[in-house]
Amino acid sequence: MITPHQTILPFLAVAFSLTLFHSAGAETCPKAGGVEAGASCEHGDGVRTGHTHASESHGDAGRMVHIHRMTCDDGAVARWKPVGRDVVTFKVKDWAGVSLEVALAIRRGVLRWNRVQPFYVMWETTREDADITIELLDDLLPGIVGAAKVKCRNAREGIRKAYVFLALKGVGAVEAQNMTAHEIGHAMGLGHSDHSHDLMDAKLAEKNIDKRMICPSNLNRAGLIAGMHSVAIPAEEWTETDCWGRRSG
Ligand SMILES: [Zn+2]
Repeated sequence: MITPHQTILPFLAVAFSLTLFHSAGAETCPKAGGVEAGASCEHGDGVRTGHTHASESHGDAGRMVHIHRMTCDDGAVARWKPVGRDVVTFKVKDWAGVSLEVALAIRRGVLRWNRVQPFYVMWETTREDADITIELLDDLLPGIVGAAKVKCRNAREGIRKAYVFLALKGVGAVEAQNMTAHEIGHAMGLGHSDHSHDLMDAKLAEKNIDKRMICPSNLNRAGLIAGMHSVAIPAEEWTETDCWGRRSG
């Protein structure tokens, strides 16, 4: 049994009041300016419904696929400052009630980014001042399975802190890994992708992500490197890597 941490509930209410109005198809990040000082950008991801998988067209010729970035309060692209930084640390606030299998999956979901991220290493810590804090809950709000919040005031400071929330009730290891990897993508400063098979697909949580491990793609890497609000690549250049970082056949 995972016990929701009571003190974050008011914070979640703020975050989700914003994100729930953020339609599933939209990819820009809602600004929280004026609602909570220093809170720049939140994403809430839902809805896990029946694990249906829509059939998708593969007529990609000439189409561009895009990925967006989270933004700072001043409108700049949100990024961890690479200068003088080798590591972004993460900490799971409380592992209580989480099976070993799911705990390992959550760690893998974070560490998958070490295969693609261009600037720094994701490193687990027990320190209170971890860069990314991950909170494991039974439930978030109805229909929400994961959420991320990035604190970034301006381009000069970069991202100062990120929070990830995962709703784990009834979630198995593969799904936990995929949800974690997606939310950590937000914590790294990525928004949503419009490629339906990409890890950062806005509707990822609606698909059968309990069946197959999904890992960051070259689009995610391009998005992290470019430092622009939106990055586009031709759809045929989108490459799915397997979860060991190799290009899949
Ligand atoms: Zn998302």
